[in-house]
Order: sequence, then C-alpha cells, then structure tokens
Amino acid sequence: MILVSGCLLGLNCKYNGGNNDNAAVHKYLEGKEYVVFCPERAGGLPAPRLPSEIRGDKVFSKAGEDVTAEFRGGAEKALAFCKTHGVTRAILKARSPSCGVHAVYDGSFSGKVVPGMGVTAKLLSENGIELMDEEDLPA
Ligand code: SF4
Repeated sequence: MILVSGCLLGLNCKYNGGNNDNAAVHKYLEGKEYVVFCPERAGGLPAPRLPSEIRGDKVFSKAGEDVTAEFRGGAEKALAFCKTHGVTRAILKARSPSCGVHAVYDGSFSGKVVPGMGVTAKLLSENGIELMDEEDLPA
C-alpha cells in the first residue's frame, strides 16, 4: 500500500488553502492501491494557515508561533495510519516541513532550501517506510 500526500492528489490541505495536484503522481498511481493523508491537517492545523518552517528541532509559523506539537502530532497520526493500512511506501510533497523527503526550507522564510526531511517524512522513514517525492517520479 502506498501513502500519498493529500495535496498531491488535489485535496485543498495546503497552507494557502489550495493544493499541489500533480499529473505524474496520478499517472504513477494508476492501477495501484493507495491511501491519502495530510499530516498538518491531522495535527489540528487549519487550511488555510500560515506557512511554517523547521528551525533546529522545532517548527515555527511565519508569525513565530511554535507549532512543533501540531507537526509531531500529525506525524504520529500519519505513522498510525500507515500501520493500519499496511503502508510500505509513501509519495510525499517535496520540501514541505511535514512531507519533504530530500530537502526542506531553512527556517528563514526566504525560500532557501537545505538538505533534510519534514517531520512526518522523518518518522515514516525511521519506521521503515520507503519514501519518494513527486519529483522522483517520471514526468
Ligand atoms: S502537510 Fe503534506 S499533505 Fe499536507 S498540505 Fe503539507 S505537503 Fe501537503
């Protein structure tokens, strides 16, 4: 079973109230079994919401609010959801502070990207789930 970031399949769970609907993801999933999840919404954050970035081992909104608990809560719920559904692989949204697989924004809200993983991606990876982002898929 494959877990997919909700915004990649058109759910309006992104911080700005929109989505990141992605044709390559839809194509990759044809004929495959998958489930859809948004860790930030599951962690109790609304959509729309302020964007957040990771700084050290915490997560802050653009207004400086510490949203680490919501991000960690969402990650725990994502892991439980994966266990319930027998998920072995996940396709997650690139560079998100929850879902980023290879890189995340650096915490300065300046658009700068650094190597690293989002909070949920890290927890899923630590629990043996194979991760890729939408940019790893053939266009
Ligand atoms: S937390 Fe993940 S699934 Fe939810 S909007 Fe952000 S990138 Fe998409």
